[in-house]
Amino acid sequence: MEISGEAGERRIEWAARAMPVLRAVGERFAAERPLDGMRIAACLHVTAETAVLMGALRAGGAEIALAASNPLSTQDDVAAALAEYGVAVYARAGVDRETYYRHINQALDIAPEIVLDDGCDLVNTLHTERLELLPGVTGGCEETTTGIIRLRQMATEEALRFPVVAVNDTRTKRMFDNRYGTGQSTLDGIMRATNTLLAGKTVVVAGFGYCGRGVAERARGLGARVIVTEIDPVKGLDATLQGYEVRPMAVAAERGDVFITVTGNRDVIRAEHLAAMKDGAILANAGHFDVEIDVRALEELADTVHPGVRPNTDEYVLADGRRLLLLAEGRLVNLTAAEGHPAAVMDMSFAAQALAVTWLARERVRLVPGVYDVPPEIDTEVARLKLAAAGIEVDTLTPDQETYLHSWRTGS
Ligand code: NAD
Ligand code: SAH
Repeated sequence: MEISGEAGERRIEWAARAMPVLRAVGERFAAERPLDGMRIAACLHVTAETAVLMGALRAGGAEIALAASNPLSTQDDVAAALAEYGVAVYARAGVDRETYYRHINQALDIAPEIVLDDGCDLVNTLHTERLELLPGVTGGCEETTTGIIRLRQMATEEALRFPVVAVNDTRTKRMFDNRYGTGQSTLDGIMRATNTLLAGKTVVVAGFGYCGRGVAERARGLGARVIVTEIDPVKGLDATLQGYEVRPMAVAAERGDVFITVTGNRDVIRAEHLAAMKDGAILANAGHFDVEIDVRALEELADTVHPGVRPNTDEYVLADGRRLLLLAEGRLVNLTAAEGHPAAVMDMSFAAQALAVTWLARERVRLVPGVYDVPPEIDTEVARLKLAAAGIEVDTLTPDQETYLHSWRTGS
């Protein structure tokens, strides 16, 4: 792929075409300048879709420093285009752990008033290494499920020092981004990395939350037999009634051709599972960082490793000759081997994010440290704009219906 600001710009323009809601928010911001002079440090995947978000925030008057939220997911041409556009970008594809955290620290050097995070690494760095900056931070937004779990834990332990909006938990984010976005882009990543035929294969999906449900649906749509693993009996029951086979990983491990983890948990695929797998099994993670598949156990189990048998595919050969294929080093396969979620779903996530930033900026004096839901009117606004862009209308309640829904006096 061409790495130049010009190539990145073309990519950003292409993404913007599918992001009418964020474009409309950006136009409003340009007129109203709600973030005039505000310093924002963001830790997000550096993609064309993120660039459109950066454009909206800049139009609103913000000064931005951006670091990557994953060492492998940066689109270098987009990073170059963003730097030309005036965003301080600290990101490059394929960096090591030390550089990843150095970049986060460099973004924090802007002394942010607002922080945007995806997985809580930036907030964590602020609270552990950059304590001197905490008094200046008035609030933050968190993009993903696992980040919010960490933040709630920080709030419970009274460690969190500023208010954070849980963008992930809003309906217009997780019902579409986590489900349809992860569903499509995860399979896209696996197909780009391996060119494998999914029809007729057994795909094991670990975790049947918002993401897992999307992945399972799309794998089934491509003709795969899907086995779901879960730890929550309710989710296991839900998957069963949706027609999936539900099994413990110890059983699924022997049967799967392709394994996809989307749990937000660690060690979901461990040494005993790896040891039971078939020759040629493909291992992919679309959940959180590189902890869901125990990569160290895979390294210990393997006699030989052939890195890069294809881009984003490493082959681990076990003592008996079986080969296991690890995609994207166990990191997010959809953002490493493909391009992340399509712009049309990031449109809603990032419009909610942009509006949440202005809400935070407005309400900051009133908010105490803690995790806040996105105000429901932002959710409705995002969905309304998205439907309007597609020329779709929904009904409105009649006055009688409104009264009926708010009254207990009327019987049936
Ligand atoms: P969720 O909470 O809705 O679902 C997670 C599910 O995994 C739950 O049902 C839970 O019971 C199950 N689970 C936990 N431990 C398990 C285990 N050991 N075995 C089997 N199942 C287990 O969360 P979600 O919104 O679906 O997000 C899942 C992960 O994906 C999170 O880390 C989130 O941050 C990440 N995420 C990734 C992308 C992406 O682009 N790849 C997009 C959105 C979210
Ligand atoms: N940063 C962690 C946490 C998971 S990232 C990690 O890299 O492991 C998951 C988040 O990536 C999702 O919540 C989703 O909103 C975001 N994402 C998916 N596709 C994206 C894209 N094209 N551009 C920017 N962010 C994207």
